[in-house]
Amino acid sequence: MKEVLLLKCGEIVLKGLNRKKFEDRLLGNLKRRLKPLGDCTVSLRQSVIYVEIPETVDGDAVMEAVEKVFGIALICRAAVCEKTLEAMQETAETYLADHIARAQSFKVETKRGDKRFPMTSIQVSQHIGGELAQKYHLKPDMHHPELTIHFEIREQYAFVHAGPVQGAGGMPVGTNGRAALLLSGGIDSPVAGYMMCKRGLELIGIHFFSYPYTSDRAKEKVFELGHKLTAYCGKMPILVVPFTKIQEEIRDKCHEELFTLIMRRFMMRIAEQLAVQYECGGLITGESLGQVASQTMPAMAVTNAVCETLPVFRPVIGMDKEEIVQIARKIDTFETSILPYEDCCTVFTPKHPNTKPKMYKILEAEAALDVEGLVAEAVAGTERVMA
Ligand code: ATP
Ligand code: MG
Repeated sequence: MKEVLLLKCGEIVLKGLNRKKFEDRLLGNLKRRLKPLGDCTVSLRQSVIYVEIPETVDGDAVMEAVEKVFGIALICRAAVCEKTLEAMQETAETYLADHIARAQSFKVETKRGDKRFPMTSIQVSQHIGGELAQKYHLKPDMHHPELTIHFEIREQYAFVHAGPVQGAGGMPVGTNGRAALLLSGGIDSPVAGYMMCKRGLELIGIHFFSYPYTSDRAKEKVFELGHKLTAYCGKMPILVVPFTKIQEEIRDKCHEELFTLIMRRFMMRIAEQLAVQYECGGLITGESLGQVASQTMPAMAVTNAVCETLPVFRPVIGMDKEEIVQIARKIDTFETSILPYEDCCTVFTPKHPNTKPKMYKILEAEAALDVEGLVAEAVAGTERVMA
């Protein structure tokens, strides 16, 4: 049976004059996401986006892909049929057979876009509703029906569906610019990336890699996480930063209790330079207040102080681990994130990290290092990989 998805845009309808730009971006994102699945046609008419699915294409796969596209509030998955009462009824009976079998009560709602159709919406609903009630012993209920059968009579065809499901929400990826996600192998940073992507950001990933202290398998894990995010954010380059020398320098020349904070300041400095190079307008991290010693308020003040030009977004800052895990499961990154490979943050971790660092102590410690030189060397040695 030929199917179509009817998509209602979310927040982009609020955008006034920018609306066209938002819609074009959303159509482009949809087309790109659907292309590998076959020849679907994507078009926009009167604020509704139509995805026509030819019978040769897997409708479930199309639905699954569209459910991950930001900027879409509601999705109706409908069957397409001739504009006759018989065809519409028969299509409802076969296409919605499972829904009809499960429901006790129902109602029919008809929208008549094509005013040349010889019956009114109410007449169509009453006629087909009456037939279905009798045939399947369904109780008509206009107020709280278990099932609503929708008929939409359009120019060329009629559509039959059982109502909308939620889309991914948010804004189309790319409509708010690009940001750099500091992507570790943990649970939090992929979730942080997903959340900002939902607000219309395109992503690049930055990963700090400390070979041989962290293994190639740890790096592969990060690529896998990046790849899983592409279902939401589209293609995403990952920049792999060589971080071993910096970590060894800190270990050799700074007091152990400051190790993590000084390391994090290096991460932010390097990330900011790379982000500017790649025309990003911000940085994203998976920090959550108080989760570890380097995420107390004073520790974050010290880390944040090195970011000179770009805002740092921390979308999971106020979330409990369990809430973050829930999203990680939903976006299918959780199982990859918990694979037990080491991260560069777990190499040389101090036994007693300083949770109330003093800025002057950090600056004193950093004076023993060639900060600029080390940053420049790491930036120059960075490799780019597509997730
Ligand atoms: P996650 O679960 O994302 O690893 P975390 O709770 O382990 O986070 P930290 O290890 O302190 O916390 O890292 C805080 C944030 O710093 C991470 O969410 C990530 O954005 C960034 N980060 C940490 N390690 C790396 C790394 N090796 N490469 C890139 N970014 C990193
Ligand atoms: Mg981590």
